Amino acid sequence: MNLHKTYNIRTAGAANIPVLGLGTWQSTGQDCVDIVSKALQMGYEHIDTAQAYSNEKEVGKGIQQSGVNREKFFLTTKIFPDDMKFTPENLQAAAERSLENLGVDYVDLLLLHWPDERVPLAETMPALCALQKQGLTRHIGVSNFNIDYLLEAKAHADVPIVVNQVEFHPFIKQSTLQTFMNNHHILLEAYSPLARGEVFDNDIIKAIADKHNITPAQVSLAWILSDNKRIAIPKTANPEHLQGNLDAAQVRLDSDDIAQINTLASSGGRMIEHPDYTPNWDD
Ligand code: NAP
Repeated sequence: MNLHKTYNIRTAGAANIPVLGLGTWQSTGQDCVDIVSKALQMGYEHIDTAQAYSNEKEVGKGIQQSGVNREKFFLTTKIFPDDMKFTPENLQAAAERSLENLGVDYVDLLLLHWPDERVPLAETMPALCALQKQGLTRHIGVSNFNIDYLLEAKAHADVPIVVNQVEFHPFIKQSTLQTFMNNHHILLEAYSPLARGEVFDNDIIKAIADKHNITPAQVSLAWILSDNKRIAIPKTANPEHLQGNLDAAQVRLDSDDIAQINTLASSGGRMIEHPDYTPNWDD
């Protein structure tokens, strides 16, 4: 019997990533502990956190509270750039601190959270690769990288960069980046996959949801997953939203639905920028 609630994508470097994970940005305190615990017990097999979310300890407590064995789920964290952090020594110390906060021996995926032009990838990438070889992380990746940064990162990595975690939902263009990543076997990990709530008020998405008797959240997630080079990490801190979001991995939209949603992207659709680190986006 298949007990899995989602399915996995196998990447370059043989990462086996469950396509739907739980985002935890802005999940805090006991709510974070409880939602991570409930998600794992419900069948989520993928949790996304970051040092910058200041909730790694709560995510770790949620893991412990769930009683789910470590090898049963895929865990991602991210290291945030500041002036010195990406030196080999500081990168290692940061990764060790994350493992301690999370209460685990390894993460499955360790990401550089944003590119930082002040910190040379020629130093950072070999140090990140070394963390994989030491076993602190099973795989490495990046987040918020444009094509130029990806090219530079690849040039200095001797293990595969398995994902680039970027903003992706129906209102944003990422086609240039996605094409490049497909050609280079890097998965697009969609953050803010519900456009931080904007998908709930869109008439096209609402009509497709009504047609299939599903929720707008499920429409957005199913649309993202309709391309098998993408994964999605919707955040919820509301237990009532957990199951429906997970079930989106089983929803199949038809080609007409997908074509309609494809019309929604615009150059103004981006919602997340970081004043110090945002690169020149490709779309
Ligand atoms: P999101 O997942 O697009 O949207 C989250 C919002 O949608 C929350 O307000 C949530 O409220 C609501 N929501 C979730 N499921 C719902 C449902 N079924 N029905 C109604 N409302 C629902 O936004 P996000 O948090 O920005 O992105 C997701 C994750 O991506 C983050 O948590 C984080 O892990 C990651 N991320 C990474 C970066 C990066 O720089 N790498 C940047 C942003 C985000 P409730 O909690 O009340 O359900």
